[in-house]
Amino acid sequence: MFIGNAPPLVRGGVFAYSKDGGVVKMKQYNKNNIPLAKSLRKNMTPWERKLWYEFLRSYPVRFQRQKCIGNFIVDFYCAKAGLVVELDGSQHYFNEYKKSDCIRTEKLAAENLVVIRIPNCEIDVNFEGVCEYIDNVVKSSLPQSAAQPAPSSEGAKNEQAGLYFHIPFCKSKCPYCDFYSVKYDEQSGEEYINKTVEIIKQYQGSFDTVYFGGGTPSILPPDMLRRLLDSAREQYDISDNAEITVECNPSLDLGEKMKAYADMGINRVSIGMQSAVDKERFALGRSAGRRQVENAVNSARRAGIMNISLDLMLGVPNQTIDTLDESLDFVTSMGVTHLSAYMLKIEEGTKFFDMKNRLVLPDEDEVCEMYLKTVDTMNRSGLTQYEISNFARNGMESKHNIKYWTLCDYLGIGKSAHSFWHGKRFYYDRDYSKINDGTGGDTEERIMLGLRLNKGINKSIINKDISQYIKCGLMCERGDNVALTPQGMLLSNTIISSLI
Ligand code: SF4
Repeated sequence: MFIGNAPPLVRGGVFAYSKDGGVVKMKQYNKNNIPLAKSLRKNMTPWERKLWYEFLRSYPVRFQRQKCIGNFIVDFYCAKAGLVVELDGSQHYFNEYKKSDCIRTEKLAAENLVVIRIPNCEIDVNFEGVCEYIDNVVKSSLPQSAAQPAPSSEGAKNEQAGLYFHIPFCKSKCPYCDFYSVKYDEQSGEEYINKTVEIIKQYQGSFDTVYFGGGTPSILPPDMLRRLLDSAREQYDISDNAEITVECNPSLDLGEKMKAYADMGINRVSIGMQSAVDKERFALGRSAGRRQVENAVNSARRAGIMNISLDLMLGVPNQTIDTLDESLDFVTSMGVTHLSAYMLKIEEGTKFFDMKNRLVLPDEDEVCEMYLKTVDTMNRSGLTQYEISNFARNGMESKHNIKYWTLCDYLGIGKSAHSFWHGKRFYYDRDYSKINDGTGGDTEERIMLGLRLNKGINKSIINKDISQYIKCGLMCERGDNVALTPQGMLLSNTIISSLI
């Protein structure tokens, strides 16, 4: 019974006071699980004991251990942050466990909980990194951070810009790729870094994100990336807590490289998985199998890099709804913070273009079904869609990429790198010559880029009648904004062209 300042009763649960003074909604649970939860609390595994006694028990926001939620008993639970932390032993890497972990994660996500899974081995080898990761997720999930202004899609400038380095080297050319990239050798690498360092010196700026994209940045010896980062830090004002991302190809042995990345301040990796089904990966010209993708994720975590994104491709040769399911299950079971999911486009000039009549590709309807399935599965598993192709845990959206869609300044250095810098667009061509590309930031761009985002754009920006799109379920209103629905995102090119 509540006395004094008793919190009000609400449907679906009651409010209770949390240790740190807030009021949180209690989750419903199965009372039959209480004896088992008590016994699990008394018999914690060595990894649970370490995390509890050395970190969570005295964490400033209250955590509970072996907490009953719905029909589950979760390892650790923070009500205020809506966060579940599960520690996984080696049995969780077997398929039957992975499947049940995915179902469990989806059900907990349906309760508006963020679930993070941490392998026991991380507690052994990277305890500090695990604590830092949990701390970051809690901070990003607390109401005060949710109340911080979301990135604007209406062209307002952040004070700090994004810095992009294009690393145009790859081990070999993937058959679908039309990005600029050449085969890597040490001498070309050295020359490229020297030239890039010269170009860094031609600009001044203040940045809170740095992104090494490619190509395959991870093909370079880490010292080359370090030279770029050191030069940038010397020349520019780069925030201490900048988001610094490197794209990695899992076919390379990344163990030592991840340690070097963490050491130089890289705190986010984007891993080119493309598919968790080996047959599909190999058809895409990727030599690494799913095992190497797993190793890459685990190496990043061991090095203390907990913000991990995977790339997934939809509509690739031999892919079916069932094999897509396997990839999505893999993403969920790896507990990564971010997913980018792109549809395969067969571009002229690629190997796939030459062999397009021989490729066994899913048809257009199947690809649409795959996209909608990806959106639905990711949203249910706690990786919420925030852009047409991007999904993230709350607070783990790519700060760098959001700058592109919200018309913030970004400076791109490297062959074929593009910039939007002080209102002007320009890029470096394949000879490293700078090419002016006009101005940017007009209404057309605001509509075109802003409608990529889930939050959409302010209604006042669009002068055309959108009522038909809303009636058909292709667009929706979100407060003062209008946005594309997932179905609308499938037709984004057509809809956006009609609005500008
Ligand atoms: S690794 Fe990436 S950039 Fe390099 S060829 Fe393959 S798809 Fe293109």
